[in-house]
Amino acid sequence: MIRRRLAVVCVTLGTLVASGSGARQEQFSGVQPELVQQLQAAKNDLAAGNFNLAQARMDMITPGASRQIEIYVQFDGASDDAKWRSNEALARGAKLWEQALHEHPFHVCDSPNRADVIITFRQEVFDHGSPAGGYVTWRRQVDENSWTAATKANIDVRTERPDGGPMSADLMTHEVAHELGHVLGLLDCPASGQVMSPLDLNHPLEAIALPSIDGLVRLRRAAQECRALAMVNTPRR
Ligand SMILES: [Zn+2]
Repeated sequence: MIRRRLAVVCVTLGTLVASGSGARQEQFSGVQPELVQQLQAAKNDLAAGNFNLAQARMDMITPGASRQIEIYVQFDGASDDAKWRSNEALARGAKLWEQALHEHPFHVCDSPNRADVIITFRQEVFDHGSPAGGYVTWRRQVDENSWTAATKANIDVRTERPDGGPMSADLMTHEVAHELGHVLGLLDCPASGQVMSPLDLNHPLEAIALPSIDGLVRLRRAAQECRALAMVNTPRR
């Protein structure tokens, strides 16, 4: 089993979050706590009449909802076969999320300058010196002055097994879907058999186990409801 530890670079600029009732973490199990806190902050903004800022927070909470997440793919020393597996894994990994969320959050673009997420497929990926299936760093941001939100991430995905031979397209699909899950706001899952579980070289995941993303679906729904409220109240610019 490859253990995949995360480097979390999660910077949320802006007002810090009021704690209180409303957005409780338990409802949103498996979701990164800072997103749940932002939902509460957005509700506070709504109550205070700060509708534009509330909308920006909603955009941060639901990356890919009001604007697709642009993904740029690059390869580092990958063979033609590895490139084929990589493209297959990206297409299938993104499709798994489309089916699970009933949304189309991802779009592949042809320029790194326009990308929100850059995925690099390379022969080997290491995390603190240990072989890893993949690796992601991300940054989320709400700008209080321009009322805009951004989610940026870099993902590395391994194309060759640590014990030699190619990573199968199935394994790489799990890997891609897992890292995209972090971009969408999910935490690692300690149990096995879920998309956010550690990669098991002997048991590639074939479909996202839906119970693991109930919390994410609930969060996105709550944020969309808040966004609708904010839009009704936002003066046109
Ligand atoms: Zn992870």
